[in-house]
Amino acid sequence: MKLFTVIGARPQFIKASVVSKAIQEANGITETIVHTGQHFDSNMSDVFFNQLNIPRPSHQLDIHGGNHGAMTGRMLEQLEALMLQEKPDRVMVYGDTNSTLAGALAAAKLHIPVAHVEAGLRSFNMKMPEEINRILTDQVSDILFCPTDAAVKNLQNEGFGDKPVAIEKVGDVMQDAALLFAKKAAAPAGVNVPGEFILATLHRAENTDDPERLANIVAALNEIHTTKMPVVLPLHPRTRAAVERNGLKLNVHLIDPVGYFEMVWLLDHCRLVLTDSGGVQKEAYFFSKPCVTMRDQTEWVELIEAGVNVLAGANLGNILKAVSLCETRAVISGDLYGGGRAAEAVINALIK
Ligand code: UDP
Repeated sequence: MKLFTVIGARPQFIKASVVSKAIQEANGITETIVHTGQHFDSNMSDVFFNQLNIPRPSHQLDIHGGNHGAMTGRMLEQLEALMLQEKPDRVMVYGDTNSTLAGALAAAKLHIPVAHVEAGLRSFNMKMPEEINRILTDQVSDILFCPTDAAVKNLQNEGFGDKPVAIEKVGDVMQDAALLFAKKAAAPAGVNVPGEFILATLHRAENTDDPERLANIVAALNEIHTTKMPVVLPLHPRTRAAVERNGLKLNVHLIDPVGYFEMVWLLDHCRLVLTDSGGVQKEAYFFSKPCVTMRDQTEWVELIEAGVNVLAGANLGNILKAVSLCETRAVISGDLYGGGRAAEAVINALIK
């Protein structure tokens, strides 16, 4: 089977790393990796290929910037040309970015079957570009790899049970990555990390592109850092630009985006996680840390139900309250995401 994998953003490198490893260990699948270029800084892209041993992409498209339509359109055109040239048996896409949608759509129009890893997730907020991307990608996929029961249920509620597609609950490939690479954890070089700290990440468009939400979150992070506990924040380039654009000042322990080995070290050593990331919410759980999510909804509803994640939106008071609440919570453990065997399950289903 000739597999054509489309990736382009940081979380996709991490997800694809464990599946690519499983492909190399399996018989009968060859993989061509295409990097759309959506994330291109070396600390947002190269570092993951180097650390996680991801095979070098056969094609590097260098498409980034611009509005969503323009970016997705350029990807669509170039991916279609590559698919015509490569003639893959199947296209594999991950998550919910513009690269995901462009890969799925280009393949579907060429009648190439599409496998979607992280299918069925929903925030039910159509203002999120990610929600649009994941709904449309699921619609044109014929193997839907779901990480959770909630994801399977979402697809069933949307009528996928009556369609000629395969819905496979495989668990979460990000847990495979966290387990595999935890042993490589390394303190970020040249950074003086405080003994006790809160690990924060912030980059969702719904927060960075809304000046009021961004100002509230910046105020909350600054207050937590000065009155409660140091906040370590590896700053996403989009957030750095938004903070500057809005004349805001982050008075926390700012660091550049880190590699995955450094990120798992930070997750392992922090007291609590404060984030608007999808992946980092689960990683907090993998590393038994309470999590406060600075969003109004989450796709990872089982974490809320388990009481290990609190939704605080972008409201200063709610974020402070949630942090105080989580600080007192007991150590977390559990197995909501498949226990680190998701990549193997993906490959078994593909071969089947
Ligand atoms: N991550 C990283 N370095 C950082 C920040 C995040 O390696 O400086 C990792 C993080 O551990 C997770 C992934 O990037 O595995 C999440 O990506 P992001 O938050 O950008 O995207 P999302 O999961 O929200 O789609």
